[in-house]
Amino acid sequence: MTDPDMAVSDVRAERLKRIRLSPSLARMDQIAQLKRENREVFNLSMGEPDFAPADHILEATVKAIRNGETRYTQAGGTPALREAVADKFRRENALVYGPGDVLVGTGAKQLIFAAFGATLGHGDEVIVPAPYWVSYPDIARFFAGTPKIVPASQANGFKITADDLERAITPRTRWLVLNSPNNPSGAVYSEDEMRALGAVLERHEKVMVLTDEIYEHFIYHQAASAPSFAAVCPHMHGRTFTINGVSKSYALTGLRIGYAGGPTWLIEACRGIISQDTSCPSSVGQAAALAALTGTQSSLASTREAYRLRRDRLVERINAIPGLDCIPPDGAFYAYPSVSGLLGRTTPAGKRLETDDDVADFFLMHAGVATMAGSAFGLSPYIRLSFATSEDTLKAACEHMDQAVKSTGN
Ligand code: PLP
Repeated sequence: MTDPDMAVSDVRAERLKRIRLSPSLARMDQIAQLKRENREVFNLSMGEPDFAPADHILEATVKAIRNGETRYTQAGGTPALREAVADKFRRENALVYGPGDVLVGTGAKQLIFAAFGATLGHGDEVIVPAPYWVSYPDIARFFAGTPKIVPASQANGFKITADDLERAITPRTRWLVLNSPNNPSGAVYSEDEMRALGAVLERHEKVMVLTDEIYEHFIYHQAASAPSFAAVCPHMHGRTFTINGVSKSYALTGLRIGYAGGPTWLIEACRGIISQDTSCPSSVGQAAALAALTGTQSSLASTREAYRLRRDRLVERINAIPGLDCIPPDGAFYAYPSVSGLLGRTTPAGKRLETDDDVADFFLMHAGVATMAGSAFGLSPYIRLSFATSEDTLKAACEHMDQAVKSTGN
């Protein structure tokens, strides 16, 4: 007798073992299951804005469909959008990229995928400060690279130092991933902190920087947007891949448009990969992105203020819950409280909370509050709370977590 599953599992590629279903998608499956059971869920696990896109963006998108912009475009994005991207980099980030040095992709994620695919060979190392957005290490592994995780402590605002970076670099290092403002910690590197990292990299000529600035507009401790690495460290311009996109800033996650600037050879390489992957980014998504980048930017300020208010209230409420400890995030739309004060406690069901996974599961099953465990982001014991959700949901979630914590015993 042959096992019917065997024939299938036999052909699975080795690289498949190196990646997992994105933990946030796994959490969404769990939430869907609870909802099917008619359980109330306060969802703080989402990584996408809850605001609607601005009207002028929606109108431009519909108009593009009506005008027949429903066909393949150039692999690296339409000339109009690439020009708008180069303008945006110049206007907002003081970054000068020629039209051949920018690229549009199916979300920032595809551009990261392409950049690692274009540069990583077996055992090449990618330095990833933790906590990190879950996809960087998995994408590096997918291309047989080795993520080198460098913990960034809460005491240092979840940021790595120049010394941390120096110690992590080896002859195999290809990339440093810098994500500021950071998902999940909200950390924002200052210009001085970026300069210190740039000074280290000056001595290591083969290390490139992938700077993911997708949350740049959501920053709460300064007026303007977050500093951009290649602008702060001009000597690194030719070795930096600057990633951004319209998903977060303009609430267009489902339209899947990201963009990047970088050295011509890398842009060309990524374009080649994309041409064999999705052929091009969605034409309709590109029309929306063009309207977003070239139209009024007024929604950015109002969204930032709404997030700031939610952040302030959330942090206050979280810090009032015994066992949780949260530093206010400087950017993005996540809080990353420590749950170390809850470890060792026992739930009403008699389970001892040993890890942040236990705490996240306890909050989901007992309090109906969906969070993400810090283990998914490489730094424990923490949980990530997204405040890209309504004030009512945030308030109710905190009340339920507070009651759940009070129901635990020593
Ligand atoms: N980079 C970071 C840090 C993110 O948090 C996310 C989404 O959660 C992305 C990139 C993905 O962006 P996109 O929707 O453009 O693929």
